Amino acid sequence: MKCPVCKTTELITGKLDENLNSLNCPDCGGNWIRGAEYWKWIEQHGSELAERVHETESLSLAEPGLPIDCPECRFRMVKYLVGRGLGFSLDHCQGCKGIWLDRNEWDALKKRNLHDDLNTMFTSFWQTEAHREARKKRMVDIYISRFGADDYTEIKRIRWWLDTKTNKEELLAYLTDRDPYAA
Ligand SMILES: [Zn+2]
Ligand SMILES: [Zn+2]
Repeated sequence: MKCPVCKTTELITGKLDENLNSLNCPDCGGNWIRGAEYWKWIEQHGSELAERVHETESLSLAEPGLPIDCPECRFRMVKYLVGRGLGFSLDHCQGCKGIWLDRNEWDALKKRNLHDDLNTMFTSFWQTEAHREARKKRMVDIYISRFGADDYTEIKRIRWWLDTKTNKEELLAYLTDRDPYAA
């Protein structure tokens, strides 16, 4: 079977984790998990691990890639956002349920204990949340580029402070009035 990213490289049989068989690409470092293999592993893996929220990401991940076709059944695979602060997507084949991970993505998921949540990740519930998070991140980036990081921090603080006040409208009027002392 050929790597869906490199196209001509043959995938090599290996393991991604204890009891989890995978096919790995020696060129791009991507991993293919057959749908049935993941389910088998989930059953053996036992109870789900609690998410580790505060692990920081230091692994080198692949740049977001183009759509790819399933190496087994040739279906165009669907990209699913991981979310939860991780900026990459997984490719999932809706035909054979296989999963493609680019290099280091399994380890990045594992660091956060999200590697046993892939089945949940492919639900619309998870995806709605992940897309909402991605939109928010885009807005934050826009504000930072407009205001600069320091001013963005400051204006967020002021906004939070205003939200705690019952006379917020009055305070805002004072702020935006060109000459608040010209009664
Ligand atoms: Zn490859
Ligand atoms: Zn497939």
